[in-house]
Amino acid sequence: MGAALALPAQAGGKADAILLSCMDYRLIDDLAIMLNQMQYRNSYDHVILAGGALGAVHPQFAAWHPVFWDHVGLAVKLHSVHEILVIDHSDCGAAKLALGEEAIATPQKEMQAHAAVMDQLTQAAHERFPELRLRGFLMTLDGTMERIPTAGETH
Ligand SMILES: [Zn+2]
Repeated sequence: MGAALALPAQAGGKADAILLSCMDYRLIDDLAIMLNQMQYRNSYDHVILAGGALGAVHPQFAAWHPVFWDHVGLAVKLHSVHEILVIDHSDCGAAKLALGEEAIATPQKEMQAHAAVMDQLTQAAHERFPELRLRGFLMTLDGTMERIPTAGETH
């Protein structure tokens, strides 16, 4: 019966990705489930900033920006991550604060707003960590997720 309590063994010191997500309490379990489904189970570092991508680039949260990049740097140094995953979400309170309610008033506007922010983050990431791939997603409150297209992507 002891085996039932054993935690899965981890490969020494390596992880695939660093995840940036919002702090929103409604999505914590959905995030873990989604990352497991994406085959990232126990293979990602996790940074939480209110607003997700917004927390890393919007002027209103400027104090957090270096915190985020320091964590990315550490994730590369300590765990050799090769990807930044960013999961923003719908009905985000931080997005309403930073962008205004009108900016995310419809699903279409909301996706556009998050795509614009994701472009900024992608560019900032490319300047600092050109070796890392960045993929952004928008999660709805029911836990489903959609890829946020970024500028320059053909697919
Ligand atoms: Zn949020």
